[in-house]
Amino acid sequence: MNHSPLQNLRDRALLKTAAYVNGAWLEQTQRFSVTDPATGLELARVADTDRGHAQQAIAAAGAAWPAWRDKTAKERATLLMRWNALMLEHADDLALLMTAEQGKPLAEARGEVAYAASFLEWFAEEGRRVCGETIATHDPGKRLLVLRQAVGVCAAITPWNFPLAMITRKVAPALAAGCPVIVKPAEQTPLCALALAELAARAGLPPGIFNVLSADGANSIAVGRALCESPVVRHLSFTGSTEVGRILIRQCAPTIKKLSLELGGNAPFIVFDDADIESAVEGALISKFRNAGQTCVCVNRFYVQEGVYETFVTRLAERVRELRLGNGFDPGVQVASLIDDPAVEKVRQHVSDAQSKGGRVLAGGRLRSGRLFEPTVIADASADMLCAHEETFGPVAPIFRFQSEAEAIALANATEFGLASYLYSRDIGRIFRVAEALESGMVGINTGHISTAEAPFGGVKQSGLGREGSRHGIEDYLELKYLCLGGI
Ligand code: ADP
Repeated sequence: MNHSPLQNLRDRALLKTAAYVNGAWLEQTQRFSVTDPATGLELARVADTDRGHAQQAIAAAGAAWPAWRDKTAKERATLLMRWNALMLEHADDLALLMTAEQGKPLAEARGEVAYAASFLEWFAEEGRRVCGETIATHDPGKRLLVLRQAVGVCAAITPWNFPLAMITRKVAPALAAGCPVIVKPAEQTPLCALALAELAARAGLPPGIFNVLSADGANSIAVGRALCESPVVRHLSFTGSTEVGRILIRQCAPTIKKLSLELGGNAPFIVFDDADIESAVEGALISKFRNAGQTCVCVNRFYVQEGVYETFVTRLAERVRELRLGNGFDPGVQVASLIDDPAVEKVRQHVSDAQSKGGRVLAGGRLRSGRLFEPTVIADASADMLCAHEETFGPVAPIFRFQSEAEAIALANATEFGLASYLYSRDIGRIFRVAEALESGMVGINTGHISTAEAPFGGVKQSGLGREGSRHGIEDYLELKYLCLGGI
């Protein structure tokens, strides 16, 4: 008899399976199965909403907008802070739901709950600092002013790798700015999104302000399309693959929607001869193996300078062999299940392709069981390997060799992506030269962990548009309105 991890929820009312629209739970919908990626067992049957439900949510959000927009920023902040407090109060249950449906180790899930809640707190504060402008006039008879106003109804389509944080990072600035939001969470991880809706209701968010449309397969695409095509929805925020990002841009073109896109990455991690190697190995472990390599800022390619190459690969392989692989609920597990079978297949393909092209597997390299792929280190990686061009999105560290600083920069930039990059060096001149030359929206220098609500997260090139988090993260949810006052 298999025991569902959800039986350990302290507050069982956080397990919601109906979609949340206009402050009500839609019970009468079709359902789809949500499973534990580690065991394949069904966790719950969740609402499979369709185009009609999307239209219902859009109408509800549109109707709720004026009253929400007209609240003071402080009133909105109070509700966001209450929501933040509820997330923290229920952190253990939220983490449990996350590990159950996403697979990541429980300690990481707890970390994500705190990270996700931090966006509610941050944007509650930022919402109160939205300021307009008065401009020195070109004409003594006129005065020029600029207002910053909420854009209107917003939609968010979110991925499975951060089931809570990718929602709050979009929803918090939207709500703080005065915009209602409709969220279409990833089909693999709707339970976190729906628990968040339950907490939004407890926090007192008015009906229609935060809506969650869970959906699977064809319905998921239809709901996404309805959100893109609606003229009422004025902004779409998406985190996911570049390929789906392109589809959404196309679908949003007829209604000229504002877009925030956080797409794929192919992060390089450069280790120079002068780096502190122990600290580089530490950063590599954090950045590569978090969430089993399934984050868009995970390192995809390691570039290590000739003089320290063997030392670095040997040390990294030693540390990687020590990583504990297992079920996300087991204490001490550091690398857990991949999300699904296609993910396993891609990782397997990248490893066998690298081996066939001369890669030396120094750690891991095999599927241990189920969807547990061993954390893997591959030395002697080369530019013709799949892992040099495609995001592996798994626990594989291919290590390339380079000689000069210029070569490292050229190799790092040889990709259409530009989300995160990392470099390790103790030479301050080199740090500035390389950080400035890297074509990415974010650069970790002597650290493998860069994400925080205070800093602008986002990419250049085909990694996306706009920034999330920081004081910039609210900009996409605000329009400028210029007032020209004559007859003075
Ligand atoms: P990943 O590769 O991380 O699974 P995707 O880009 O496929 O990322 O998915 C991210 C989100 O986009 C999910 O919520 C998914 O349901 C949604 N999605 C995927 N394909 C489409 C599509 N054609 N139209 C709208 N949404 C989509």
